[in-house]
Amino acid sequence: MKKMKRLAALLLSAALLTGCAAQGAPKATEAPTATAAPTATAVPDTTKTTGMGFYFDTVVTVTLYGAPEGMMDEIWAACTRYEKLLSKTIAGSDVSRINAANGQTITIDPETWDILRRAKEISSLSGGAFSVTIAPLTAMWDFTGGTNRMPADEERIAALPLVDDSAIVLGDDSTVTLPAGMQIDLGGIAKGYIADKVAELVRGRVFGAILSLGGNVYVVGDKPDGSLNSVGVQDPFSYTGTTLGIVYTKNNSVVTSGTYERGFAGPDGTWYHHILDPKTGLPSTSDLVSATFVMDSSMTADALATACIVMGSEQAMTFVREQGWDALFITRDGKTLASDGFVDKYRYTLLADLMK
Ligand code: ADP
Ligand code: MG
Repeated sequence: MKKMKRLAALLLSAALLTGCAAQGAPKATEAPTATAAPTATAVPDTTKTTGMGFYFDTVVTVTLYGAPEGMMDEIWAACTRYEKLLSKTIAGSDVSRINAANGQTITIDPETWDILRRAKEISSLSGGAFSVTIAPLTAMWDFTGGTNRMPADEERIAALPLVDDSAIVLGDDSTVTLPAGMQIDLGGIAKGYIADKVAELVRGRVFGAILSLGGNVYVVGDKPDGSLNSVGVQDPFSYTGTTLGIVYTKNNSVVTSGTYERGFAGPDGTWYHHILDPKTGLPSTSDLVSATFVMDSSMTADALATACIVMGSEQAMTFVREQGWDALFITRDGKTLASDGFVDKYRYTLLADLMK
């Protein structure tokens, strides 16, 4: 019966998006009953507000409990600001200016500078599996626009020397210098950064919040009934929104990157997807189709999830164990590999097992 209830709560949440936080129905603020002893502690406001927007090519959903007036608007204003700063397709964004600088040193927003600093660190840690300088190669592919463009071998190979995050020079006073010809693409890290910033914006001002930016979910504070939030991990082999397993957490980010997210089937039926191997410029051919991290930094989790898919299960699992991170990987042949912490701390459970 208890299981059925949990399941009902989970299914209820299936209407939310992939990788999104699944949670039970919130309790509205209740007036004290006649029999309740008078108490000095005020009942916290847990009134639920939800909102949905489209930013960074992604559906963003926000659920707030006990939010002050106007908070939803503040969140959308922040998303608009970050999109204008970090999008590679918006003229005048920091990323567009960096990409057009042609070797010149330019001044960027301190936030963009911070993202680049962290990107360089993760690139170095991952042996280049994560590289924001992948841009000249991502520009040669069209995974989402419908043209299914793929580069010719010569074109692709000629661009490989342009991928090297260590060549991004970050100066004092928020300056950046990128060698001429090189370009950046923050698609593998920006949503994580924005999730962190929106979490920061709401933290301490709401009873609880669930923020979902595509594969990045951030859960802040408590659920109205005090229980942990359950966050669904997308089943890489099923329709978007189909949950494979659940993790339970609070005040944490759960981030999944997957090869199924964006891509196209080529003439020969091969699946060409948006996570490129910086060594080849081709969609990663490792044995991993999905990587999930639970971390308080959604930005780090986002970049690592992308990196680990490129690395493949063996190297990625060694990396994760060495660093003491919590991650879950799903292989092409459907095997699930989880770090010990992922199961122990976050009680990773297959949905199929919950239904038994
Ligand atoms: P999403 O959540 O949008 O599916 P991911 O976090 O999985 O994105 O990152 C994929 C995106 O990152 C790509 O769309 C591209 O913009 C960029 N990218 C692709 N390959 C790499 C790579 N090896 N390193 C860093 N960024 C990458
Ligand atoms: Mg990522």
